[in-house]
Amino acid sequence: MPNIKPVICGVCGKSANLNFKEDFKEYSLWECPECFGQFWSPMKGPGAGWYEKDERYSFRNLNPLEKPERNHREFLRDLPAKGGRLLDIGMGTGNFLAAAVKSGYDGYGVDFDSEAIETAKRVFGLKNVSTGDLDGVLKDFGEKSFDIVTMFEVVEHLENPAEFIEKSKRLLKNGGYLAISVPFRGAAEFLKPNDKPPRHLTRWDKNSMENFLKEHEFETARIKIIKAPISYLITKFHFWTRGFLSFNAVGKLSAVPAGQKAVNNKVSLRARVIQKMARIKDYILFLLPAIILSGILLVTGRNGLGLYILAKKK
Ligand SMILES: [Zn+2]
Repeated sequence: MPNIKPVICGVCGKSANLNFKEDFKEYSLWECPECFGQFWSPMKGPGAGWYEKDERYSFRNLNPLEKPERNHREFLRDLPAKGGRLLDIGMGTGNFLAAAVKSGYDGYGVDFDSEAIETAKRVFGLKNVSTGDLDGVLKDFGEKSFDIVTMFEVVEHLENPAEFIEKSKRLLKNGGYLAISVPFRGAAEFLKPNDKPPRHLTRWDKNSMENFLKEHEFETARIKIIKAPISYLITKFHFWTRGFLSFNAVGKLSAVPAGQKAVNNKVSLRARVIQKMARIKDYILFLLPAIILSGILLVTGRNGLGLYILAKKK
């Protein structure tokens, strides 16, 4: 049973005859016929406290990623306004910001998770990073103070994406760049297991994202669906078959006590060799099924881990 039908689009803010898409728990997903944006109603996030307790985030603070991820690498391929002043909003533990600084940017970062900021300082030695939000950055730096604003996997969490993008626009110089990544809503279900409310409140594809940015006076410079590579699908097969293919011995032998990596980064040579062998075994078993799955996803247009957009402020 869908919730009471909203009369205003949560993405573009216009009153529209919204189309019901699906239900999840007490939320209903609606699509706007004006902007093609999709949003969950009630469009209410769980608050910062919920994220701090979420094990996905606390795990990340203890085991920070050292390298930039696929969405980040799209930006690092573009390098718009190279050498300029860059602000990364929702920077997490800083793996993107560290890579951006390495690429020559004058990098700044903000996140609401103070533990993530502490990790970023400790692991990458990042200095211009702080706990806070866009209002704080606007107050501290003022309007038109950045050449580039990046927000990776942020927009889908927002209760009011329009307001957020307007504030980001104020931070940007004229002709400055905005880089965004979000989950791709056209992806097969198993590629987006966490794309649900209250964690995520909006869903995007190329069309709705371009409309959204156009509405806020941004011009798309590049937009791309980031596809799941074969290696990612092989990992999926590994998890699907866990339990009925006997990988337990490998799991036990190579187990690293929780938190150890964050302490000294030294995993024993034996454990590393065993992990490498397990990976080779995965490739032997799952390479062909993964290639077939990849082909099916490609043909049906459902192979998308995320959507990347680079846009320019007019
Ligand atoms: Zn709309």
